Amino acid sequence: MKAWRFYGFGDMRLDDIPAPVCRPGHVVVEPLCVQPSVTEAQLAFGIRTLAYDSISKRLETEAPVSLFGHEFSARVIEVGEGVTRVRAGDRVAARAKLPCGACPLCDTARGHLCRKGPIIGFQLPGCFAEVALLPEVALVKVPEVISDNEAACLQSLSDSVAAVETADIQMGDAMAIFGQGSMGLECLQIARSSGAGLLITVDVRDEACAVSEQLGADHALNASRCDPVAAIRELTGGNGADIVFECAGGSPKQGLAGHQTLTQAIDAARSGGKVVGVSWFGQPILLDIDALRERSLRYLFPDISTLAHLEHTVRLVASGRVRLKPTITHVLQGIDAVPQAFEITANKGKYKAINPAQVVICQ
Ligand SMILES: [Zn+2]
Repeated sequence: MKAWRFYGFGDMRLDDIPAPVCRPGHVVVEPLCVQPSVTEAQLAFGIRTLAYDSISKRLETEAPVSLFGHEFSARVIEVGEGVTRVRAGDRVAARAKLPCGACPLCDTARGHLCRKGPIIGFQLPGCFAEVALLPEVALVKVPEVISDNEAACLQSLSDSVAAVETADIQMGDAMAIFGQGSMGLECLQIARSSGAGLLITVDVRDEACAVSEQLGADHALNASRCDPVAAIRELTGGNGADIVFECAGGSPKQGLAGHQTLTQAIDAARSGGKVVGVSWFGQPILLDIDALRERSLRYLFPDISTLAHLEHTVRLVASGRVRLKPTITHVLQGIDAVPQAFEITANKGKYKAINPAQVVICQ
């Protein structure tokens, strides 16, 4: 089978390698549609972000290595011994970060807190290949009403579901969301169906603001033309938002916001309010902790998404409560197009992409 393998940062090649053999508790799938996550796209080019050190080490010691590809839809072609939740012919999507199944946290039904398990595409091969082997524990069945392209977004959406759950929205809470890329737009729609009141979004791209309004933002602020903190305070009667999501931060070289949006998110929250950190910054950041302390702010981070989050994600999309189609801006055809998808996804600002670029591997 053909599979993309990495020989080093910035060096991916389409190799012919043996197809994986099915194992107990696993399924063999044919990937249908795959997209690099923003993190994967940055790592592919050696940009420092989440998991940089572990990927760097794998490339030094194991190259060529099958990496990335945890955001996908796939069709099951074979199931291993003991697999009960899916059958050959089913379409599936997956969560990426898996519990180890053997530590004290996993033993006590707190696998969402476990950090010892593998991540698909990082420690396990992912779906930038014609065939892939996946553990059943990662999978959810995808109903017909969800397209292959939409299903490839379910993993990222399940992380957004976990992020919104972390916020613990009270009915009518005013929310501000910095960043209207795929996760910002997902958090917007999930919050809207989870009791949020006033919804204010912030981006610097007119096209992202337009999609944000289309998907339910009451006010989509373009921060290149206004002071978003002042605008959020004015829209919330002077105090600031009850909950602020920060989904814009990251490497400015890739068109992300650096860390100024985190400072803005903190300033835009009311006293006693919550700031939910969704972005990865790729480097340490200096924060004025006394300012957070003085204003009794809660700076929260989402748990990793569970099977329950993933199943809720499927319901949100199947019922139309979350719409993914307006966020899918770039779809490429054929496994040869994978490097182009990495280029577009690592530089979404330059290519005016909202969701990562998708690759249809098989129809
Ligand atoms: Zn564990």
